[in-house]
Amino acid sequence: MRLYNTLTRQKEEFRPIHDGEVRMYSCGPTVYNYAHIGNLRTYIFMDIMRRVILYNGYKLTGVMNITDVGHLTSDGDTGEDKMATAAKRAQKTPEEIAEYYTSVFFKDIDRLNILRPEIVAKATDNIPEMIDYVEKLCEKGYGYETSDGIYFDIQKFPAYGSLSRLNLDDQIAGARVEVNEEKHHPADFALWKKAPKEHIMQWPSPWGQGYPGWHIECSAMGQKYLEFPFDIHSGGVDHIPVHHENEIAQNEALTGKKTVNYWVHSEFMLVNNGKMSKSLGNTYTIDQLIEKGYSPIEFRYFCLNAMYRKKLNFTFEGMDSAKVSYTRLLQSLAKHREGSAEVDTSKYLADFREAINDDLNIPLALGVLWSMLKEKPSRQVYETALEMDKVFALDLHLAKAEEEVVDEIPSEVMALVEERAQAKKDKNYARADEIRGIVDAMGYVIVDTKDGAKVNKK
Ligand code: AMP
Ligand code: ZN
Repeated sequence: MRLYNTLTRQKEEFRPIHDGEVRMYSCGPTVYNYAHIGNLRTYIFMDIMRRVILYNGYKLTGVMNITDVGHLTSDGDTGEDKMATAAKRAQKTPEEIAEYYTSVFFKDIDRLNILRPEIVAKATDNIPEMIDYVEKLCEKGYGYETSDGIYFDIQKFPAYGSLSRLNLDDQIAGARVEVNEEKHHPADFALWKKAPKEHIMQWPSPWGQGYPGWHIECSAMGQKYLEFPFDIHSGGVDHIPVHHENEIAQNEALTGKKTVNYWVHSEFMLVNNGKMSKSLGNTYTIDQLIEKGYSPIEFRYFCLNAMYRKKLNFTFEGMDSAKVSYTRLLQSLAKHREGSAEVDTSKYLADFREAINDDLNIPLALGVLWSMLKEKPSRQVYETALEMDKVFALDLHLAKAEEEVVDEIPSEVMALVEERAQAKKDKNYARADEIRGIVDAMGYVIVDTKDGAKVNKK
């Protein structure tokens, strides 16, 4: 298996530290809001990496953190805690906010066939480990105290910037670091922040009441659950210049050696070739895609058609064409399932393996699948496709012929949809809404179109 390592800017042959075993840390969500399709692209990439590792026969220990404290609105040391802001807005506690968005996150990733990591670690469950880590950095002379927190002394770590290959001046220019006279260097970053009395999330520490910095969370949980050094650390490209650079500084300051061998990052999703942002109203969620008539697996298929290191431009035209291709894929597989021709599929499987092991080249692997489907209808083709689906996870076992697809919705659901249409005619909107809820709980979603109500499986 070859992986592109951001550290060396090269595709490298992957060699695990322990024979036959892989230990991998993936930066997880900050649970203050719904995951949008851009975030989900990143988690699909992490899932593909996990599936390729498993396909190669390794035993895998994967850790994903849930950030439920410490991630400030600036990504740096300024602004409010994202969790606290969301809690105030919703008049809930940060714990309630975290619990709600964590459960929605897991529902989303389940629907996208994203395998759950072996270990899911909540930041707030690991505060003592973080305090301990910061204390050790202070003992070693890398941390110092100011009136508002404990900071990492970047000048004591000359290798700073090796991941992003930015020198400190570029970093500062890029990060718009705030002026803080007490810091030794403008790029020094917070390991621990002291909490003002009114701050809603705070823990006792040797430096008084406070809360951890976002970067120390991942360092401390990586060390606790995987031990240094471990094999792979993954995340989105936005993490390279600050979050991961800071993690490396913390880890290497603590241990005096390299702590992660392969840093693997996925590129961003754009919408209509531009940035995704709340203000532009283009940060779609999976539920919104479902409402528009696309299934989560069609979205997964859309993502798999792009190499993870390339920007992926989301458009509804692109989703429409993914939907058409995916339906054709299932129809073609249904023909093969009933087929009787003898086809040797070993060459396709070998090409598939080569593609996935060449830095997770899933678009190429999908190309191999499509070429194989051109063979005469053959059960072997169907079975080989299912083998490939261990990595794609596109529910290829649900292959259905065209006429079967229409019948997919159970009759109870259809009866409810008709009842709802009648309720709407009678202007009984309360009942219509109630039926939408019942249908939703049964795993289907009603989409109102100009040709009447349509139902999609969630
Ligand atoms: P957050 O919950 O904000 O910490 O982000 C979760 C993950 O989504 C991080 O790994 C980010 O790198 C990633 N991410 C954020 N925006 C995008 C985007 N537009 N496209 C792809 N990944 C993204
Ligand atoms: Zn992280």
